[in-house]
Amino acid sequence: MVTKIILFIGALIISYTVLLPAQDKADLILYNGKIISVDPQDHIYKAVAVKGDKVLALGNDTDILPMAGSPCRLIDLKGKTVSPGLIDSHYHMMYYGAQFWPGYLNIRHPVVTCKADLLKVLGEYVKTINPGDWISGNQGFTLKQDETIDRWDLDAVTPNNPVYLRHSSGQYSAVNSKALGIAGIDSSTPNPPSSLIIHDSTGQPSGILSHYPAENLVGRYATGYGDRTDEQKFADTDIGQSLCFQAGYTSVQDVIVGSLKDIQLYKQYADSSKLKIRLYALLYLDTEKEVDSVLKNLKNYDSGRFKFAGWKLAMDGGLSGRTTLFYDKSMYAAEISYPYHTQDELNRIIKKLHNTGLQVAVHVGGDQGIDMTITAFEEAMRANPRPDARHRIEHGLFPTQTAVQRMKDANIILSTQPQWITWYGDGFRTATSDATMERLLPLKTMLDMGIHLAFGCDVPASPYQEPKWAFAGSVFRKTTTGTLLTQSERLTMPEALRVHTMGSAYAGFAETTTGSLEPGKFADLVIWSLDLYNLTPNQVTGLEAEMTIVGGEIVYDNGKNTIVTSVLSENNISPGSFKLMQNYPNPFNPATIIKYSIPSTSFVVLEVYNTLGQKVETLVNEIKPAGEYSIIFNGDNLSTGVYYYRIKAGEFYGIKKFVLIK
Ligand SMILES: [Zn+2]
Repeated sequence: MVTKIILFIGALIISYTVLLPAQDKADLILYNGKIISVDPQDHIYKAVAVKGDKVLALGNDTDILPMAGSPCRLIDLKGKTVSPGLIDSHYHMMYYGAQFWPGYLNIRHPVVTCKADLLKVLGEYVKTINPGDWISGNQGFTLKQDETIDRWDLDAVTPNNPVYLRHSSGQYSAVNSKALGIAGIDSSTPNPPSSLIIHDSTGQPSGILSHYPAENLVGRYATGYGDRTDEQKFADTDIGQSLCFQAGYTSVQDVIVGSLKDIQLYKQYADSSKLKIRLYALLYLDTEKEVDSVLKNLKNYDSGRFKFAGWKLAMDGGLSGRTTLFYDKSMYAAEISYPYHTQDELNRIIKKLHNTGLQVAVHVGGDQGIDMTITAFEEAMRANPRPDARHRIEHGLFPTQTAVQRMKDANIILSTQPQWITWYGDGFRTATSDATMERLLPLKTMLDMGIHLAFGCDVPASPYQEPKWAFAGSVFRKTTTGTLLTQSERLTMPEALRVHTMGSAYAGFAETTTGSLEPGKFADLVIWSLDLYNLTPNQVTGLEAEMTIVGGEIVYDNGKNTIVTSVLSENNISPGSFKLMQNYPNPFNPATIIKYSIPSTSFVVLEVYNTLGQKVETLVNEIKPAGEYSIIFNGDNLSTGVYYYRIKAGEFYGIKKFVLIK
């Protein structure tokens, strides 16, 4: 309540604040900025006070600066924008961290953007290793839309080394003949569940393995995939976490934790207090058999920073792998598509998972797959109604109008990647049809209907992790070649930011503690290089997180903002103790220290004059919280003589003489 009074009664603030009990004093204040709160009214403030891990108050500088405790870290934003920490609803933290492991051949964008790039990189790399060594790529390569690749292409440059390369989408792998040989895959090898070993026209495996179970037939032998140690995975997590902070994420939802073992590793990481980000994890399950065995062994888990809270399934693949489950199979994107589970099986699995009381998320992109998924959710909820299940569709690229209405009625969340509009939009156009493209991520329609949206970057299945790409995709809907896609579905920047904060928080059951800057919520926030609410299409790609704060702790700092720690002595708190001290040393050459103190927040002007009354330097010209200050004056450019320093701080005025002798 105290904080509300302070925000309201401007004139009484100073005298009131002096009486603030110690427990209501801030230990971190960001002021002189644009604080976008994303509260229900989308209030914008100048300053925010933090105490411990929570937001204490928001308001004008004159409201907030007097709340500084002792000590208090002060950050003068100099007009910069602060938002709540961004929440990524679809991230792969441990796995994305692994992409930077030096043992992998780096084939990610922009190193590889087409088949020729890939073969060139492989050809050069193979010269540096021994015959027989594995070549494992990180995830992964991209090709031009009309390009394909097979084992024979790879054999031509890597005849003597087994090769395992994942496509960037994470939906298929390309392997060469050596790798197929090691895995014992030939024309008679059956397809593992829900996946495909692709064959060429002669019936031979083509070297393309579609979806995880088929990919893993080779992947489990490839260096850096099947053999990753716990230590490596902790190191991967370290890297993943620091990349999140660099991007401005303070919470992430890791929607594919691949095994019970990895859930345990995340737990250990959290218990070792290395986990600083708020991490919400879903366990990925491929088959009904896995579902049955896991349900016996796993309960939800909540350690504060780490929550294991649900399940993830997949119903189709991706457009580039031609495995997106559309009704229209004549489109390139759906040429070899098939449901990863039959409707009956999906219904059974989702029912079992729903009945655990936890959240269920399903990867699906095509209209037919989306319809099947909604049907299974509807059935599970009809059989066992639960008011706040918050089941989710991940990606959900091409819903029909009916599907959108059904999602609304069943309160199914859409967790998606607007980045793909920008980076993959051109590819989507050639892989589908004009009519289909009209249905690509109807975000504005969905938002206006009240459907809960959440944004995530899905690295490494997207080229880049920064949230600017989600903003660019959802606000401008412009592809990399400049094609504008269904402009009527553009969001405004405040809408996009709200989805990426409060929307994603809701998708992880965290909207009461994160997602906006309001008193009592976690102090998770980001200082941005640009004003989020005034971005042009050209500017948005230059947006950078400058500082990321989780629970009041600075976890990323690019050094562009100065943090001043102010320490108040008890004496300085009583009103009327404005002081301007005599400088020391005096006389001086060339530098001297000037000390002053102010008992309450004031606009301070401290200037140096010569004996003719001409101003020679301005030392301070800004609002300052109560405190004792020292400033160094350097007379390097001045000649010997008498000078004056004069302070004006609110109503107070003081002047002192000092002498420079050279
Ligand atoms: Zn993903």
